[in-house]
Amino acid sequence: MKKIIAFDVDDTLVKSKNPLTPEMVSLLSELMKSYEVAIISGSRFEVFEENIIAPLREKPRELLERMHILPTCGTRYYTYDHEVDTWDIMYAEDFTEEQKQKIVEVSERLTKESGLWPAHPHGEVIEDRLSQIAISMLGQKAPAEEKYEWYAAHNEDAIQLRNKIAAELPEFEVRNGGTTTIDITPIGVDKAYGMQKLIEALDVTKEEVLFVGDRLEKGGNDYPVKAMGVDCIDVDGWQTTPYVVRGILGVTD
Ligand SMILES: [Mg+2]
Repeated sequence: MKKIIAFDVDDTLVKSKNPLTPEMVSLLSELMKSYEVAIISGSRFEVFEENIIAPLREKPRELLERMHILPTCGTRYYTYDHEVDTWDIMYAEDFTEEQKQKIVEVSERLTKESGLWPAHPHGEVIEDRLSQIAISMLGQKAPAEEKYEWYAAHNEDAIQLRNKIAAELPEFEVRNGGTTTIDITPIGVDKAYGMQKLIEALDVTKEEVLFVGDRLEKGGNDYPVKAMGVDCIDVDGWQTTPYVVRGILGVTD
């Protein structure tokens, strides 16, 4: 029996970096009537606030007490207290200033050397997410379509750049995530780490968790969850996820 339904964000719950659709808002609300709902991503909490929490505002607030927000791969964990209408941080594991400086220096230098540094980025290229540094090849605010195009043309280049950065930063985990992003975290911090933290916090077993993600193939940023033995449903994009949620809910309309 599943107690927690967990979701990746980009291209699973939403089109990359977009808000929840009204359809997904309704489906998540329905889901929270019967399950704890966990949402895990490499993004910062502020992105969750904008794209996940704000669209759910219209729904009964008590429902949000069943939502578990795990930004930056679960290095932070937030839950909602509806009495005072706040999201409380349960824990945060952030980089030190020295670690950040080193990561930013190596990332910028190698991205420029590889010719992948964008001439006209949409927003920041290197983003400090406190417990994660993210390099975004088109900038943090690039439109989804541009990112999909870039991914189709440069996926291999991104993998090579990831390998070069990983060679210079062996003390950290370096991973290709999403479409245009390279994520750098402390070693051992990936979505499996976040899911393990959640399992402990809620005192459930991994058999009671179902995870839905779009990058569950080996090397994908959702793969660690599958590798830890959690039951997973692989979606080929955010358009497929409503069907999965309806399946879980047993609704066929
Ligand atoms: Mg994804």
